[in-house]
Amino acid sequence: MSSMFRCIKCGRRYPIGTRLRCECGGLLEVEHEFASVNLTVFDRRLGSSAHPYHSGVWRFKELVHPDLDEAHIVSRPEGNTNLYAHRLLEEYVGARRLALKHEGENPTGSFKDRGMTVGISEARRLGARVVACASTGNTSASLAAYAAQAGLSCVVFIPEGEIAYGKLAQTLAYGAKVLQMRGNFDDAMHIVQRASAELGFYLLNSVNPWRIEGQKTIIFELLQQRGWRPPDWIVVPAGNLGNTSAFGKALRELEAIGLIGEMPRLAAIQAEGANPFYRLWVKGEEALTPAKPKTVASAIKIGAPVSWRRALKAIRATGGVVEQVSDQEIMDAKAVVDRSGVGCEPASAASVAGAKKLVETGVIDPGEDVVCILTGNLLKDPDSTICYHTGALDGITPRFPNQPHAIEPELSSVQEALCRFANEDRIRS
Ligand SMILES: *Cc1c(COP(=O)(O)O)cnc(C)c1O
Ligand SMILES: [Zn+2]
Repeated sequence: MSSMFRCIKCGRRYPIGTRLRCECGGLLEVEHEFASVNLTVFDRRLGSSAHPYHSGVWRFKELVHPDLDEAHIVSRPEGNTNLYAHRLLEEYVGARRLALKHEGENPTGSFKDRGMTVGISEARRLGARVVACASTGNTSASLAAYAAQAGLSCVVFIPEGEIAYGKLAQTLAYGAKVLQMRGNFDDAMHIVQRASAELGFYLLNSVNPWRIEGQKTIIFELLQQRGWRPPDWIVVPAGNLGNTSAFGKALRELEAIGLIGEMPRLAAIQAEGANPFYRLWVKGEEALTPAKPKTVASAIKIGAPVSWRRALKAIRATGGVVEQVSDQEIMDAKAVVDRSGVGCEPASAASVAGAKKLVETGVIDPGEDVVCILTGNLLKDPDSTICYHTGALDGITPRFPNQPHAIEPELSSVQEALCRFANEDRIRS
Protein backbone atom coordinates (compact mmCIF):
# COMPACT_ATOMS: atom_id res chain seq x y z
CA MET A 1 0.00 0.00 0.00
CA SER A 2 1.25 3.48 -0.80
CA SER A 3 -1.08 5.11 1.77
CA MET A 4 -0.72 5.15 5.57
CA PHE A 5 -2.50 6.84 8.47
CA ARG A 6 -0.42 9.35 10.39
CA CYS A 7 -1.34 11.03 13.69
CA ILE A 8 -1.46 14.79 13.28
CA LYS A 9 -0.53 15.26 16.94
CA CYS A 10 2.37 12.87 17.60
CA GLY A 11 3.26 11.64 14.11
CA ARG A 12 2.77 7.93 14.81
CA ARG A 13 1.93 5.84 11.73
CA TYR A 14 -0.65 3.07 11.28
CA PRO A 15 -1.67 0.95 8.32
CA ILE A 16 -4.95 2.21 6.82
CA GLY A 17 -7.96 0.48 8.38
CA THR A 18 -10.88 0.98 10.74
CA ARG A 19 -8.91 2.96 13.35
CA LEU A 20 -9.82 6.67 13.23
CA ARG A 21 -7.80 8.02 16.15
CA CYS A 22 -4.25 7.58 17.38
CA GLU A 23 -3.55 5.96 20.73
CA CYS A 24 -2.65 9.48 21.95
CA GLY A 25 -6.18 10.63 20.99
CA GLY A 26 -5.02 12.69 17.99
CA LEU A 27 -6.83 12.63 14.65
CA LEU A 28 -5.30 10.66 11.81
CA GLU A 29 -4.65 11.87 8.32
CA VAL A 30 -3.87 9.91 5.19
CA GLU A 31 -0.31 10.13 4.02
CA HIS A 32 0.30 9.09 0.43
CA GLU A 33 3.47 8.10 -1.26
CA PHE A 34 2.67 9.49 -4.67
CA ALA A 35 3.96 7.65 -7.69
CA SER A 36 5.00 10.17 -10.34
CA VAL A 37 1.81 12.13 -10.99
CA ASN A 38 1.28 14.06 -14.17
CA LEU A 39 -1.42 16.67 -14.72
CA THR A 40 -2.10 15.44 -18.25
CA VAL A 41 -3.67 12.27 -16.79
CA PHE A 42 -6.30 14.41 -15.05
CA ASP A 43 -6.82 16.63 -18.07
CA ARG A 44 -7.26 13.63 -20.35
CA ARG A 45 -10.06 12.28 -18.15
CA LEU A 46 -12.05 15.52 -18.43
CA GLY A 47 -13.85 14.42 -21.57
CA SER A 48 -14.46 10.88 -20.33
CA SER A 49 -17.91 9.57 -19.45
CA ALA A 50 -16.62 6.32 -17.96
CA HIS A 51 -17.07 5.27 -14.32
CA PRO A 52 -15.38 6.30 -12.06
CA TYR A 53 -13.18 8.88 -13.79
CA HIS A 54 -16.04 11.13 -14.92
CA SER A 55 -16.49 12.01 -11.23
CA GLY A 56 -14.84 15.26 -10.12
CA VAL A 57 -13.46 13.29 -7.18
CA TRP A 58 -12.24 10.08 -8.83
CA ARG A 59 -10.73 11.96 -11.74
CA PHE A 60 -7.98 12.65 -9.20
CA LYS A 61 -7.89 9.10 -7.79
CA GLU A 62 -4.07 9.01 -7.70
CA LEU A 63 -4.16 11.94 -5.23
CA VAL A 64 -7.11 10.67 -3.20
CA HIS A 65 -7.04 6.88 -2.72
CA PRO A 66 -4.47 5.52 -5.16
CA ASP A 67 -4.65 1.83 -4.27
CA LEU A 68 -8.43 1.45 -3.97
CA ASP A 69 -9.87 -1.25 -6.22
CA GLU A 70 -12.35 0.37 -8.63
CA ALA A 71 -14.89 -2.33 -7.78
CA HIS A 72 -15.38 -0.74 -4.33
CA ILE A 73 -16.11 2.74 -5.64
CA VAL A 74 -19.62 4.14 -5.06
CA SER A 75 -20.03 7.31 -7.11
CA ARG A 76 -23.09 9.38 -8.15
CA PRO A 77 -20.90 10.94 -9.79
CA GLU A 78 -19.93 13.99 -7.71
CA GLY A 79 -18.05 17.21 -8.34
CA ASN A 80 -17.76 18.84 -11.77
CA THR A 81 -19.21 21.97 -10.17
CA ASN A 82 -19.17 25.30 -11.97
CA LEU A 83 -17.56 28.69 -11.49
CA TYR A 84 -19.81 31.76 -11.63
CA ALA A 85 -19.18 35.49 -11.88
CA HIS A 86 -21.69 38.33 -11.82
CA ARG A 87 -21.47 42.12 -11.85
CA LEU A 88 -23.72 42.37 -8.78
CA LEU A 89 -21.33 40.15 -6.81
CA GLU A 90 -18.21 42.01 -7.89
CA GLU A 91 -19.81 45.32 -6.87
CA TYR A 92 -21.07 43.95 -3.56
CA VAL A 93 -17.75 42.41 -2.54
CA GLY A 94 -15.65 45.17 -4.11
CA ALA A 95 -13.34 42.78 -5.95
CA ARG A 96 -12.97 42.99 -9.72
CA ARG A 97 -11.89 39.37 -10.26
CA LEU A 98 -14.35 37.37 -8.21
CA ALA A 99 -15.68 33.89 -8.95
CA LEU A 100 -17.90 31.55 -6.95
CA LYS A 101 -17.38 27.79 -7.10
CA HIS A 102 -20.76 26.22 -6.50
CA GLU A 103 -20.44 23.03 -4.48
CA GLY A 104 -24.21 23.08 -4.08
CA GLU A 105 -24.25 21.46 -7.52
CA ASN A 106 -23.15 18.12 -6.07
CA PRO A 107 -25.62 15.19 -6.21
CA THR A 108 -27.19 15.80 -2.78
CA GLY A 109 -26.65 19.55 -2.91
CA SER A 110 -23.49 20.11 -0.87
CA PHE A 111 -19.72 19.52 -0.98
CA LYS A 112 -20.19 16.72 1.57
CA ASP A 113 -20.69 14.32 -1.37
CA ARG A 114 -17.03 14.66 -2.32
CA GLY A 115 -15.88 13.29 1.01
CA MET A 116 -18.70 10.80 1.26
CA THR A 117 -18.00 8.97 -2.00
CA VAL A 118 -14.49 8.27 -0.72
CA GLY A 119 -15.63 7.41 2.81
CA ILE A 120 -18.36 5.04 1.64
CA SER A 121 -16.07 3.39 -0.90
CA GLU A 122 -13.55 2.80 1.88
CA ALA A 123 -16.36 1.45 4.09
CA ARG A 124 -17.06 -1.10 1.37
CA ARG A 125 -13.40 -2.01 1.12
CA LEU A 126 -13.35 -2.59 4.88
CA GLY A 127 -16.56 -4.64 4.76
CA ALA A 128 -18.47 -2.28 7.09
CA ARG A 129 -22.18 -2.97 7.54
CA VAL A 130 -23.42 0.06 9.48
CA VAL A 131 -22.25 3.63 8.86
CA ALA A 132 -22.95 6.57 11.16
CA CYS A 133 -22.47 10.31 11.52
CA ALA A 134 -23.48 13.33 13.56
CA SER A 135 -24.63 16.17 11.40
CA THR A 136 -25.88 19.72 11.08
CA GLY A 137 -27.82 18.31 8.10
CA ASN A 138 -25.77 18.05 4.93
CA THR A 139 -23.49 15.26 6.12
CA SER A 140 -26.52 13.15 7.03
CA ALA A 141 -28.25 13.85 3.69
CA SER A 142 -25.11 12.84 1.84
CA LEU A 143 -24.31 9.80 3.96
CA ALA A 144 -27.91 8.57 3.74
CA ALA A 145 -27.81 8.76 -0.07
CA TYR A 146 -24.46 7.02 -0.47
CA ALA A 147 -25.31 4.35 2.12
CA ALA A 148 -28.54 3.63 0.27
CA GLN A 149 -26.65 3.28 -2.98
CA ALA A 150 -24.07 0.98 -1.41
CA GLY A 151 -26.71 -1.08 0.42
CA LEU A 152 -25.35 -0.24 3.88
CA SER A 153 -27.36 0.58 7.01
CA CYS A 154 -27.10 4.18 8.12
CA VAL A 155 -27.63 5.82 11.52
CA VAL A 156 -27.48 9.60 11.89
CA PHE A 157 -27.40 11.72 15.04
CA ILE A 158 -28.88 15.19 14.65
CA PRO A 159 -29.64 18.05 17.04
CA GLU A 160 -33.41 18.28 17.43
CA GLY A 161 -35.06 21.25 15.72
CA GLU A 162 -31.79 22.61 14.32
CA ILE A 163 -31.68 20.91 10.94
CA ALA A 164 -32.86 22.79 7.85
CA TYR A 165 -35.95 21.18 6.39
CA GLY A 166 -34.52 20.20 3.02
CA LYS A 167 -31.71 18.29 4.70
CA LEU A 168 -33.96 16.44 7.13
CA ALA A 169 -36.30 15.54 4.26
CA GLN A 170 -33.41 14.08 2.25
CA THR A 171 -32.10 12.07 5.20
CA LEU A 172 -35.49 10.50 5.94
CA ALA A 173 -36.25 9.92 2.27
CA TYR A 174 -32.96 8.08 1.65
CA GLY A 175 -33.85 5.73 4.50
CA ALA A 176 -31.36 6.60 7.25
CA LYS A 177 -32.32 5.82 10.85
CA VAL A 178 -32.54 9.27 12.39
CA LEU A 179 -31.78 9.86 16.08
CA GLN A 180 -32.93 13.34 17.01
CA MET A 181 -31.12 14.44 20.14
CA ARG A 182 -32.00 17.07 22.63
CA GLY A 183 -28.77 19.06 22.51
CA ASN A 184 -26.66 20.74 19.84
CA PHE A 185 -24.32 19.44 17.14
CA ASP A 186 -21.40 19.22 19.55
CA ASP A 187 -23.41 16.91 21.82
CA ALA A 188 -24.35 14.78 18.80
CA MET A 189 -20.71 14.63 17.72
CA HIS A 190 -19.67 13.48 21.18
CA ILE A 191 -22.25 10.69 21.39
CA VAL A 192 -21.75 9.38 17.85
CA GLN A 193 -18.05 8.85 18.54
CA ARG A 194 -18.83 6.86 21.68
CA ALA A 195 -21.59 4.89 19.99
CA SER A 196 -19.39 4.06 17.01
CA ALA A 197 -16.57 2.82 19.23
CA GLU A 198 -18.90 0.68 21.35
CA LEU A 199 -21.27 -0.59 18.69
CA GLY A 200 -18.88 -0.97 15.77
CA PHE A 201 -20.41 1.59 13.39
CA TYR A 202 -18.05 2.95 10.74
CA LEU A 203 -17.96 6.67 11.55
CA LEU A 204 -18.21 9.04 8.60
CA ASN A 205 -17.86 12.47 10.16
CA SER A 206 -14.90 14.53 9.05
CA VAL A 207 -12.84 12.91 11.83
CA ASN A 208 -12.73 10.18 9.19
CA PRO A 209 -9.57 10.99 7.20
CA TRP A 210 -11.06 9.73 3.92
CA ARG A 211 -13.67 12.49 3.98
CA ILE A 212 -10.80 14.98 3.91
CA GLU A 213 -9.20 13.15 0.98
CA GLY A 214 -12.39 13.55 -1.05
CA GLN A 215 -12.84 17.19 -0.14
CA LYS A 216 -9.32 17.98 -1.38
CA THR A 217 -10.72 17.62 -4.88
CA ILE A 218 -12.57 20.94 -4.57
CA ILE A 219 -9.10 22.49 -4.85
CA PHE A 220 -7.85 20.11 -7.54
CA GLU A 221 -10.92 20.73 -9.68
CA LEU A 222 -10.84 24.48 -9.11
CA LEU A 223 -7.23 24.69 -10.23
CA GLN A 224 -7.87 22.45 -13.21
CA GLN A 225 -10.76 24.72 -14.28
CA ARG A 226 -8.32 27.62 -14.17
CA GLY A 227 -5.68 25.88 -16.27
CA TRP A 228 -3.76 25.02 -13.05
CA ARG A 229 -3.24 28.73 -12.26
CA PRO A 230 -4.00 29.35 -8.56
CA PRO A 231 -6.04 32.43 -7.59
CA ASP A 232 -4.66 34.84 -4.96
CA TRP A 233 -7.36 33.92 -2.44
CA ILE A 234 -9.68 31.01 -1.72
CA VAL A 235 -12.44 31.96 0.74
CA VAL A 236 -14.38 29.21 2.53
CA PRO A 237 -17.10 29.04 5.21
CA ALA A 238 -15.76 27.36 8.36
CA GLY A 239 -17.72 25.25 10.83
CA ASN A 240 -16.23 21.92 11.86
CA LEU A 241 -13.16 22.95 9.79
CA GLY A 242 -12.97 19.80 7.66
CA ASN A 243 -12.97 21.79 4.45
CA THR A 244 -10.34 24.27 5.63
CA SER A 245 -8.15 21.30 6.58
CA ALA A 246 -8.77 19.54 3.27
CA PHE A 247 -7.89 22.67 1.28
CA GLY A 248 -4.63 23.06 3.18
CA LYS A 249 -3.71 19.42 2.62
CA ALA A 250 -4.54 19.62 -1.09
CA LEU A 251 -2.35 22.69 -1.56
CA ARG A 252 0.53 21.24 0.46
CA GLU A 253 0.48 18.07 -1.61
CA LEU A 254 0.27 19.88 -4.95
CA GLU A 255 3.22 22.02 -3.94
CA ALA A 256 5.22 19.04 -2.67
CA ILE A 257 4.84 17.10 -5.91
CA GLY A 258 5.59 20.22 -7.92
CA LEU A 259 2.21 20.63 -9.60
CA ILE A 260 1.75 24.26 -8.52
CA GLY A 261 4.23 27.09 -8.17
CA GLU A 262 2.54 29.65 -5.93
CA MET A 263 0.31 29.03 -2.93
CA PRO A 264 -3.08 30.74 -2.90
CA ARG A 265 -4.00 32.16 0.51
CA LEU A 266 -6.88 30.58 2.43
CA ALA A 267 -9.46 32.68 4.25
CA ALA A 268 -11.70 30.72 6.64
CA ILE A 269 -14.90 32.56 7.57
CA GLN A 270 -16.88 31.83 10.73
CA ALA A 271 -20.24 33.13 11.94
CA GLU A 272 -19.87 35.59 14.84
CA GLY A 273 -22.09 33.42 17.03
CA ALA A 274 -20.05 30.26 16.33
CA ASN A 275 -16.52 31.60 16.15
CA PRO A 276 -14.15 29.54 18.35
CA PHE A 277 -11.59 29.20 15.55
CA TYR A 278 -11.69 32.93 14.84
CA ARG A 279 -11.07 33.67 18.52
CA LEU A 280 -8.18 31.21 18.64
CA TRP A 281 -6.70 32.92 15.58
CA VAL A 282 -6.96 36.55 16.71
CA LYS A 283 -5.76 35.79 20.23
CA GLY A 284 -2.91 33.62 18.97
CA GLU A 285 -3.93 30.81 21.30
CA GLU A 286 -2.51 27.32 21.04
CA ALA A 287 -5.70 25.48 22.04
CA LEU A 288 -9.33 25.97 21.07
CA THR A 289 -11.90 27.07 23.67
CA PRO A 290 -15.35 25.65 22.80
CA ALA A 291 -18.42 27.86 23.13
CA LYS A 292 -22.18 27.46 22.78
CA PRO A 293 -22.98 28.27 19.12
CA LYS A 294 -25.77 30.52 17.85
CA THR A 295 -26.25 31.49 14.19
CA VAL A 296 -28.87 31.40 11.44
CA ALA A 297 -26.30 29.54 9.31
CA SER A 298 -27.08 26.09 10.74
CA ALA A 299 -24.40 24.27 8.70
CA ILE A 300 -21.67 26.16 10.56
CA LYS A 301 -23.41 26.29 13.92
CA ILE A 302 -20.61 24.44 15.70
CA GLY A 303 -18.99 25.39 18.99
CA ALA A 304 -16.28 22.72 19.25
CA PRO A 305 -14.87 22.06 15.76
CA VAL A 306 -12.99 18.75 15.70
CA SER A 307 -10.52 19.69 12.96
CA TRP A 308 -9.19 22.95 14.38
CA ARG A 309 -5.62 21.67 14.67
CA ARG A 310 -5.24 20.68 11.03
CA ALA A 311 -7.18 23.80 9.95
CA LEU A 312 -4.73 26.00 11.82
CA LYS A 313 -1.91 24.25 10.01
CA ALA A 314 -3.68 25.02 6.71
CA ILE A 315 -4.12 28.72 7.49
CA ARG A 316 -0.50 29.09 8.58
CA ALA A 317 0.96 27.14 5.65
CA THR A 318 -0.84 29.31 3.08
CA GLY A 319 -0.31 32.68 4.75
CA GLY A 320 -4.06 32.74 5.26
CA VAL A 321 -6.46 34.49 7.62
CA VAL A 322 -9.54 33.74 9.72
CA GLU A 323 -12.45 36.22 9.75
CA GLN A 324 -15.91 36.35 11.25
CA VAL A 325 -19.19 37.78 9.91
CA SER A 326 -22.56 38.53 11.53
CA ASP A 327 -25.83 36.80 10.65
CA GLN A 328 -26.95 40.08 9.13
CA GLU A 329 -23.92 40.11 6.83
CA ILE A 330 -24.42 36.42 5.98
CA MET A 331 -28.08 36.82 5.02
CA ASP A 332 -27.52 40.03 3.02
CA ALA A 333 -24.64 38.37 1.14
CA LYS A 334 -26.86 35.36 0.50
CA ALA A 335 -29.54 37.65 -0.94
CA VAL A 336 -27.00 39.04 -3.42
CA VAL A 337 -25.75 35.54 -4.36
CA ASP A 338 -29.37 34.47 -4.85
CA ARG A 339 -30.27 37.63 -6.80
CA SER A 340 -27.34 36.92 -9.14
CA GLY A 341 -29.16 33.77 -10.22
CA VAL A 342 -26.60 31.54 -8.53
CA GLY A 343 -28.19 30.91 -5.13
CA CYS A 344 -26.92 29.17 -2.00
CA GLU A 345 -27.85 28.23 1.57
CA PRO A 346 -27.02 30.63 4.45
CA ALA A 347 -23.71 29.07 5.61
CA SER A 348 -22.35 29.23 2.06
CA ALA A 349 -22.81 32.98 1.89
CA ALA A 350 -20.37 33.39 4.78
CA SER A 351 -17.60 33.13 2.18
CA VAL A 352 -19.00 36.05 0.16
CA ALA A 353 -19.71 38.12 3.28
CA GLY A 354 -16.19 37.33 4.48
CA ALA A 355 -14.57 38.34 1.19
CA LYS A 356 -16.46 41.65 1.31
CA LYS A 357 -15.22 42.30 4.84
CA LEU A 358 -11.62 41.38 3.93
CA VAL A 359 -11.72 43.81 0.99
CA GLU A 360 -13.15 46.54 3.22
CA THR A 361 -10.44 46.00 5.85
CA GLY A 362 -7.70 46.02 3.20
CA VAL A 363 -6.61 42.41 3.68
CA ILE A 364 -7.73 41.51 0.15
CA ASP A 365 -6.77 44.00 -2.56
CA PRO A 366 -9.67 44.86 -4.92
CA GLY A 367 -7.53 43.81 -7.89
CA GLU A 368 -6.67 40.37 -6.51
CA ASP A 369 -8.07 37.18 -7.94
CA VAL A 370 -10.61 35.76 -5.45
CA VAL A 371 -12.59 32.51 -5.44
CA CYS A 372 -15.37 32.07 -2.88
CA ILE A 373 -16.64 28.56 -2.21
CA LEU A 374 -20.41 28.12 -2.04
CA THR A 375 -20.85 25.02 0.07
CA GLY A 376 -24.57 24.21 -0.28
CA ASN A 377 -27.64 24.60 -2.47
CA LEU A 378 -30.33 27.29 -2.13
CA LEU A 379 -33.11 24.71 -1.71
CA LYS A 380 -31.58 23.18 1.42
CA ASP A 381 -33.05 25.80 3.73
CA PRO A 382 -36.16 27.44 2.25
CA ASP A 383 -37.35 28.69 5.66
CA SER A 384 -34.43 31.04 6.21
CA THR A 385 -34.77 32.45 2.68
CA ILE A 386 -38.48 33.17 3.01
CA CYS A 387 -38.11 34.54 6.53
CA TYR A 388 -35.36 36.88 5.32
CA HIS A 389 -37.45 38.28 2.49
CA THR A 390 -40.54 38.71 4.66
CA GLY A 391 -38.56 40.31 7.50
CA ALA A 392 -39.34 37.45 9.89
CA LEU A 393 -35.75 36.58 10.88
CA ASP A 394 -35.00 37.52 14.47
CA GLY A 395 -32.55 40.39 14.76
CA ILE A 396 -32.08 40.80 10.99
CA THR A 397 -33.31 43.74 8.91
CA PRO A 398 -33.13 42.62 5.28
CA ARG A 399 -31.23 45.05 3.04
CA PHE A 400 -32.47 43.26 -0.08
CA PRO A 401 -36.01 42.06 0.70
CA ASN A 402 -38.36 40.69 -1.95
CA GLN A 403 -41.81 40.44 -0.42
CA PRO A 404 -44.70 38.67 -2.09
CA HIS A 405 -47.86 40.81 -2.34
CA ALA A 406 -51.34 39.41 -1.87
CA ILE A 407 -53.80 40.54 -4.57
CA GLU A 408 -57.42 40.10 -5.61
CA PRO A 409 -57.99 38.23 -8.89
CA GLU A 410 -58.62 41.54 -10.72
CA LEU A 411 -56.56 43.56 -13.18
CA SER A 412 -56.75 46.72 -11.05
CA SER A 413 -55.24 44.80 -8.16
CA VAL A 414 -52.40 43.62 -10.41
CA GLN A 415 -51.74 47.20 -11.51
CA GLU A 416 -51.70 48.44 -7.93
CA ALA A 417 -49.21 45.73 -6.95
CA LEU A 418 -46.96 46.58 -9.91
CA CYS A 419 -46.90 50.21 -8.75
CA ARG A 420 -45.87 49.09 -5.30
CA PHE A 421 -43.05 46.92 -6.75
CA ALA A 422 -41.85 49.90 -8.82
CA ASN A 423 -41.85 52.07 -5.70
CA GLU A 424 -39.82 49.54 -3.75
CA ASP A 425 -37.25 49.36 -6.54
CA ARG A 426 -36.99 53.16 -6.62
CA ILE A 427 -36.45 53.39 -2.86
CA ARG A 428 -33.73 50.74 -3.01
CA SER A 429 -31.72 52.24 -5.87
C1 LIG B 1 -20.59 21.20 6.34
C2 LIG B 1 -20.89 22.52 5.79
C3 LIG B 1 -20.10 23.64 6.08
C4 LIG B 1 -18.96 23.59 7.06
O1 LIG B 1 -17.85 22.92 6.57
P1 LIG B 1 -16.72 22.42 7.60
O2 LIG B 1 -15.88 21.52 6.78
O3 LIG B 1 -17.45 21.70 8.69
O4 LIG B 1 -16.02 23.62 8.11
C5 LIG B 1 -20.40 24.84 5.49
N1 LIG B 1 -21.45 24.96 4.65
C6 LIG B 1 -22.23 23.91 4.34
C7 LIG B 1 -23.38 24.13 3.43
C8 LIG B 1 -21.99 22.67 4.90
O5 LIG B 1 -22.79 21.65 4.61
ZN1 LIG C 1 -0.77 10.38 18.21
